[in-house]
Amino acid sequence: MPRPGELTLVPARRGKPPRHLADLDVDARRQAVAELGEQPFRADQLSRHYFARHVNDPAQMTDVPAAVRDTLAASMLPTLTTAVKHLETDGGTTRKTLWRLFDGALVESVLMRYQGDRPRVTLCVSSQAGCGMSCPFCATGQQGLTRNMSAAEIVEQVVAAERMLADGEIAGGTGRVTNVVFMGMGEPLANYKAVVTAVRRMTDPAPSGLGIGRRGVTVSTVGLVPAIDKLAAENLGVRLALSLHAPDDELRDELVPVNTRWKVGEALDAARAYFEKTGRRVSIEYALIREINDHAWRGDLLGKLLNERGRGWVHVNPIPLNPTPGSKWTASKPEDEAAFVAALEERGVPVTIRDTRGSDIDGACGQLATVGD
Ligand code: SAH
Repeated sequence: MPRPGELTLVPARRGKPPRHLADLDVDARRQAVAELGEQPFRADQLSRHYFARHVNDPAQMTDVPAAVRDTLAASMLPTLTTAVKHLETDGGTTRKTLWRLFDGALVESVLMRYQGDRPRVTLCVSSQAGCGMSCPFCATGQQGLTRNMSAAEIVEQVVAAERMLADGEIAGGTGRVTNVVFMGMGEPLANYKAVVTAVRRMTDPAPSGLGIGRRGVTVSTVGLVPAIDKLAAENLGVRLALSLHAPDDELRDELVPVNTRWKVGEALDAARAYFEKTGRRVSIEYALIREINDHAWRGDLLGKLLNERGRGWVHVNPIPLNPTPGSKWTASKPEDEAAFVAALEERGVPVTIRDTRGSDIDGACGQLATVGD
């Protein structure tokens, strides 16, 4: 219940997001078009417009008879997201976009272009409006869960990014999205079905999907163990990231509250089994929080727990904590960060410190929150 004087930012339009072509596989799209009284091949034309040309404006669909364009587009390609605002940094190579969904819910995505010797474009997507996991150091976690996103709402963030890149709106010239990370708002594995469908649409070859390489897609989770097991069996070929943040249950119970349900050992076993099944090396995400979880002994314990489960299956991504409003916590001191990394390396565990790209526009890990935007 809103307290007196509190603004209600999200108008209460209830119901599900409109159905969209990207929610459906190829057969279901043809069937949906047939139900509208049109030839099933029209579905393939619409797929080409949306996934290969990133077009949803009926006027541009000149291969579809003018008389049916509007009906088909309204029914199969409804508008799902409206850009409310863009924030840019890094000379225009990083762009955070705030999106309004059909019911007023707000989500964010962050596009990051890397130039240099391994050029790529990574899009960080949201899978839920808000998040229900309550991690105390994460801005989205403080906001609570508004609702799950539909598969098409998730995919639409990528299509919109492809459009921005094709139109030359991102510094560095025209380009394509090469990587998608489910590290925006939400817990992807708590919205399992829509996330798996969205991954299929992203990785299905064009024109039935976006044709992004499977290994370019990373699903990040707090460690919902049964869902990790299920994802391993899906044969999607995507990478898994596990947000661990502590190697001991006592601290992890506090930092990642879902740990009271699935413990560190169970989450690591599931991550190891994911590697076994898919051959994809797992990332362990570890936000380094000053004097909370950054002790060398914790680095050593983490290395020990990983090695107990084998070698070569995992690497660790420490992330200096990004500041979030109202939090008492801050990033580790450089010498503590170095000692934590050294403890892992002494045990032979590969470590890559993650950059804090986008932090000046509140677009870095854990900073996405749509309250006050
Ligand atoms: N719910 C999923 C997806 C979000 S990913 C998950 O937790 O994995 C966002 C990543 O940023 C997670 O690894 C998360 O733990 C981390 N993160 C959250 N808040 C952060 C902060 N303030 N600084 C750095 N990383 C943070």
